Amino acid sequence: MPLPVEVSVRWQRAALLYQQCPHLFAVAPSSHFASLQRPAIVYKYSPVRPLETSSLHPNPPPPPSEISPLWFVRSFTPESAMAASSSSPEAAPTGPADAIRRDRILSSNLYFDVPPSKVPVIYSSSYDIAFFGIEKLHPFDSSKWGRICQFLSKEGFLDKKQTVEPLEASKDDLLVVPPVSLLPNCLVQNKVLYPFRKQVGGSILAAKLAKERGWAINIGGGFHHCSAEKGGGFCAYADISLCIQFAFVLLNISRVMIIDLDAHQGNGHEIDFSNDRRVYILDMYNAGIYPFDFEAKRYIDQKVELASGTKTKEYLDKLDEALEVARNNFNPELVVYNAGTDILDGDPLGRLKISPDGVMTRDEKVFTFARERNIPLLMLTSGGYMKSSARVIADSIINLSKKNLLALDSPLGRK
Ligand SMILES: [Zn+2]
Repeated sequence: MPLPVEVSVRWQRAALLYQQCPHLFAVAPSSHFASLQRPAIVYKYSPVRPLETSSLHPNPPPPPSEISPLWFVRSFTPESAMAASSSSPEAAPTGPADAIRRDRILSSNLYFDVPPSKVPVIYSSSYDIAFFGIEKLHPFDSSKWGRICQFLSKEGFLDKKQTVEPLEASKDDLLVVPPVSLLPNCLVQNKVLYPFRKQVGGSILAAKLAKERGWAINIGGGFHHCSAEKGGGFCAYADISLCIQFAFVLLNISRVMIIDLDAHQGNGHEIDFSNDRRVYILDMYNAGIYPFDFEAKRYIDQKVELASGTKTKEYLDKLDEALEVARNNFNPELVVYNAGTDILDGDPLGRLKISPDGVMTRDEKVFTFARERNIPLLMLTSGGYMKSSARVIADSIINLSKKNLLALDSPLGRK
């Protein structure tokens, strides 16, 4: 029997919502959902309030026939989200949008074999942004990424020939976490967005290298304000979400921990994985600065809010406590470490007072956390664009090497 017009329109809106919410595993006429076998949260769809929690019940009762015929069904309860800490593999979502995403990932070229002669440090000279000399005038250090590598090679810790050049993320790759707005302006495309697409390719490849070598560093990436819903802050593409979606499909893993220690709240990945129990998010940030995203805060599994002016000792003590809690809460197969250096004292955006030594100790603690449990870790350099940031990041990588938490000189990566 053909659907009445009003219902058809609702179906279209429902399909749209379904595409945007990967955690929804079913959109069905109400007559269908009574046969569901699994515990579920059931949402009623109505044109006025698109999503409304209708009932939380292991066996949802049949809906009254006089109300909207569309219901959304989510595959877990808040209680079961906590069970994500168990070591059992989490099921991947299986809706139509997930199938399209999977196909895109499977046909991508971003994962490629890296010869053992290379170290898992990913970098391209095109990471740096040169835009009519603006890079020389602006306080923003747009060549931070290249300078990190220069410091490392000048001091004999990294031969540039040993770094891995990533591919540029294509439009199809970027659409794995849709929607992506592709600006028509060629100048912006080539001068600004091209470097970012290379960095996205680097973040995605970093997961593969981390799995193979135990660790990987993308000397770039960490655009944590960007989500499928929108770009944000200084972030054009959601590289963290993309990296994790690729890892789910191509690395056969089902539990990822994001440790986001940039000074800002990582609202992009928080929105993208809002109800994905395969991802655990520990976010420690200055609560008094951008982005004040109160909706995204609800999706942080473990939140540590700092005040402007927080100093090194307090910061590191709180990090110790947080890592201890995370250790007990979740057993990941991959750690994505967003290592922004805008926590540095003097950073005009981060407004924290962490010393360069404090940044090095912070990185050491996170690498140790992963090493102790033998969990592959990838690090992204994220925010922090003072002239001093590149030096601090290079020093921290050298320190990690000296502490045997990574090996820049060994073709096999981690010692
Ligand atoms: Zn930041």
